[in-house]
Amino acid sequence: MKDNLDREINYMRISLTDRCNLRCSYCMPSGYNNFFKEEEVLTLEEIYTVAKIGSELGINKFRFTGGEPLVREGIEELIKKVKGLPGVNEVAITTNGILLPEKIKTLKENGLDRVNISLDSFREDRFKNITHNGDVKKVLKAIDMAIEYGIEVSLNVVIVKGKNQDEIMDFVRFSEDKGIKVRFIEIMPIGKGKDFIGMTSGEIEEVIKEERTYIEEETRKSNLRGPALYKSFYNESKGKTSTIGFISPISNCFCSDCNRIRLTCDGFLKQCLHWNSGTDLRAILRGEKTYEEAKMIIKDTIYNKPTHHNFGEKKNNVDIRFMSQIGG
Ligand code: SAM
Ligand code: SF4
Repeated sequence: MKDNLDREINYMRISLTDRCNLRCSYCMPSGYNNFFKEEEVLTLEEIYTVAKIGSELGINKFRFTGGEPLVREGIEELIKKVKGLPGVNEVAITTNGILLPEKIKTLKENGLDRVNISLDSFREDRFKNITHNGDVKKVLKAIDMAIEYGIEVSLNVVIVKGKNQDEIMDFVRFSEDKGIKVRFIEIMPIGKGKDFIGMTSGEIEEVIKEERTYIEEETRKSNLRGPALYKSFYNESKGKTSTIGFISPISNCFCSDCNRIRLTCDGFLKQCLHWNSGTDLRAILRGEKTYEEAKMIIKDTIYNKPTHHNFGEKKNNVDIRFMSQIGG
């Protein structure tokens, strides 16, 4: 469906849980345990109802995220049901990859199309430090298995100054060698992200251009592919090309092309990543409203999406949730 600015909204990101098996320093502080209570989190049946209504309103792509979506029991069955909804042509997850090897077979059988795997360092000690004890070998195994199973894989990388900026070219080489897209995401001032200084897309691109030939600029991918601006770089000595995505909410606002709506795990239908505006669907789903009434409320929430985020400004109605509660 179209929103009030004539943007086609066809993509819903659903956070299945605010819990996670890692503690990335810019996302979830170490020792953080202020999680929602079980009864505050939408049940899988409630999530399915929202997805079903979404599909009836023209949402054809769903992404499950978190927290860590693979720690939510029942995700496999939910993916199967959502993929089976009329009109749905893509179901994806964003994951840290730790539990992917043990679940990938069922996920593939149940219709998972794409997986974005987050990885900020290839170095065992550094990965442990960034994630508070994660095992990078498990993530690398997850990447290989996803490729093997024919699931489209992209890597999400956040570069933090003074932490992992010396690995930018390692990620470019990884893209060349594995033939997968690597997307550098600018750190956003959300939750703990405010305490870190990231690198802008422009700065990262300069580093890559010192060693690779920039061959063409693919313009922003279609709505279905989200807000990354993809660029290709050529490695003359290896004769290989890498595809690198830049997601730049800070340096390059992509709101005019926004095609998405977000559902937090506690049932808040969030109109924009930045603003605290939207609708408490949990109250609607657990209240007296009929299915058709709930559908009208969801339609109205999507229609009234704000024009743009404003990460640069300090305003009262900015969302104070952590990224792990929103799902990125
Ligand atoms: N646990 C899953 C994962 O790590 O992929 C899914 C949820 S995580 C919140 C989704 C993405 O958000 C990850 O790629 C993570 O690096 C990114 N992220 C977390 N906090 C961020 C921040 N403040 N700014 C930019 N990206 C952030
Ligand atoms: Fe967990 Fe993902 Fe946040 Fe890392 S970025 S703490 S893996 S939710």
